[in-house]
Amino acid sequence: NADIAMYCSKESGRNSYSFFTQEMNHDYQKKMVLEKALRKALHSNELKIVYQPKMDIETNSITGMEALVRWESSELGMISPTEFIPLAEETGIILPLGEWVLKSACFQNKIWQDMGYTPIPVSVNISMRQFYDDNFVESVMNILKETNLGAHYLDLEITESISMTNINSVICRLNDLKAMGISISIDDFGTGYSSLSYLKKFPINSLKIDRSFVKDITSNSENRAIVKTIISMANNLNLDVIAEGVETEEELLFLKSNGCLVVQGYLFSPPLSGEEFERTFLEQHKGSVLSKRKGRTVF
Ligand code: C2E
Ligand code: MG
Ligand code: MG
Ligand code: MG
Repeated sequence: NADIAMYCSKESGRNSYSFFTQEMNHDYQKKMVLEKALRKALHSNELKIVYQPKMDIETNSITGMEALVRWESSELGMISPTEFIPLAEETGIILPLGEWVLKSACFQNKIWQDMGYTPIPVSVNISMRQFYDDNFVESVMNILKETNLGAHYLDLEITESISMTNINSVICRLNDLKAMGISISIDDFGTGYSSLSYLKKFPINSLKIDRSFVKDITSNSENRAIVKTIISMANNLNLDVIAEGVETEEELLFLKSNGCLVVQGYLFSPPLSGEEFERTFLEQHKGSVLSKRKGRTVF
């Protein structure tokens, strides 16, 4: 671990730097630079949220949206969440960052509703560190109050790794959220370790089939078997099931014929800026809403 190595080396004096390879030093420095920039990002408008639709393939209409954070650093350029989210988790920055994402997504969703668009729930990714924070439930409650968004328009995506430790306290917390009217999805389903008996006990609403199983679904028979199994298990447990990372018509056809009727993926749309999302999906899927009131859209 480069962190510990550098820490120890500082303690024991300058010469000991030579114990560490150039590469470790480089990784550590890179991380420090990234961490410093990430702390700054929170306060300097470098973060934004993009939205990807969840599509109902039977009616070809949008049934949800996933909020995904983006970071364009003034110094470092565009950085992927797969790079900075783990760092944010490790450093604790995920607490203010996650709260910002949650608040912004709820705020935007409420604005869209106030503008007269058909209300569509928003899903927000919650990392383990946030979920386990003692103030988590309260902070979600406050955000809903502050933004005035109805709790049933909020869905939280958690990963299976969350669900494995401290089962009883996890169930308690999930029950608190559910009692408020929030729905819960298990993200990246199939890649974690949750046992089926725990799954039965969790007050969750849906499973999201991990993208890695959807990929190559047409050529890979193991993936086909896994996806079929997840779909029928979700059906039997009375859970909704969503496939992520759907990129081709073939994948879509397979999912449809096996009873997975909600999908997300590049086939329908990549994640879009709030502005583009509004134009592409909200304006065109207005449904039964008659009048569009004046409102402010904040991106
Ligand atoms: P995730 O929650 O599983 O999100 C789905 C990821 O798959 C997103 O990547 C999305 O852009 C990408 N994706 C969607 N459709 C397709 C497709 O058809 N093909 C391919 N190849 N990819 C597709 P993104 O936005 O880079 O986010 C990566 C991960 O970072 C997310 O995975 C999530 O775990 C994490 N993340 C993103 N935003 C947040 C956030 O606000 N909070 C937290 N805690 N984690 C976040
Ligand atoms: Mg997700
Ligand atoms: Mg996720
Ligand atoms: Mg996922």
